[in-house]
Amino acid sequence: VEAAKLGAVGVIIRSVTHALDNNPHTGATRYDSTVTKIPAMAMSTMDAEWLSALLKKEKGVQLFMKQDCKQYPDVPSYNVIGELRGTEFPNEIITAGGHLDSWDLAEGAHDDGTGCMQSIEVIRSLKAMGIKPRRTIRAVMFMNEENGLRGGNAYAEAAKKATNEKHIFAVESDAGGFGAVTLGISGKPEQLEKAKSWAGLVRPYGVYQITDGGGGADIGPLRPLGTVMCGVNPGSQRYFDHHHAPNDTFETVHKRELEQGALSMAAICWLVSEYGL
Ligand SMILES: [Zn+2]
Repeated sequence: VEAAKLGAVGVIIRSVTHALDNNPHTGATRYDSTVTKIPAMAMSTMDAEWLSALLKKEKGVQLFMKQDCKQYPDVPSYNVIGELRGTEFPNEIITAGGHLDSWDLAEGAHDDGTGCMQSIEVIRSLKAMGIKPRRTIRAVMFMNEENGLRGGNAYAEAAKKATNEKHIFAVESDAGGFGAVTLGISGKPEQLEKAKSWAGLVRPYGVYQITDGGGGADIGPLRPLGTVMCGVNPGSQRYFDHHHAPNDTFETVHKRELEQGALSMAAICWLVSEYGL
């Protein structure tokens, strides 16, 4: 937007990652109505280093931009939902979620295939242990997180209209399938205090702390309903080496780290189901 205001014909940014590699990272551009849209591209860090060196060495460098990306019309799509019904308070809903959509240049393994798998694993693991939760626990694979949050908004809209549902808690995994180190929670002070008292119970999954503040894009629209928000937070150093890039692939997911994150979600969902918040 700033470049367009200054009369630029296009913009190329260096991909925002610590990694020095050949993977450009994609993303979205946003304009306000006063600005004429210009083409935007990202280049890999290695190409950016090369271009930077060239610009320092030579005068009058010319750069040719060609893009073939398109915005297609919207088509119908859906959230995918499964649940374990609560035995005592079936109308009190606990949501565990990730998002189904991903950018087109990669598999979207960490963003957010892992969040979807972990949400399913919450239900599967509780079932495998023969646990019947007191409150309803739902795994939700949200659609359209990357391109407008329509799935998250539609889920919250439906929750608002459902007079027989009380959405007490939602946890989201959308920060990569790396080993979870904290669970971040947003809610009233007394809710936070209660959640923090469970910190020792999630330590076996590598989660060393339950911290103030957390949530996620897809569960965010539930917040005005008073739903307590929780985000699964892996160490953030590696995620942006893969985020929206061609190397966001299945092979880069570590099975044990993925499982630990999933079970930290299962544990917090079960604790909320058992003891309320
Ligand atoms: Zn994501």
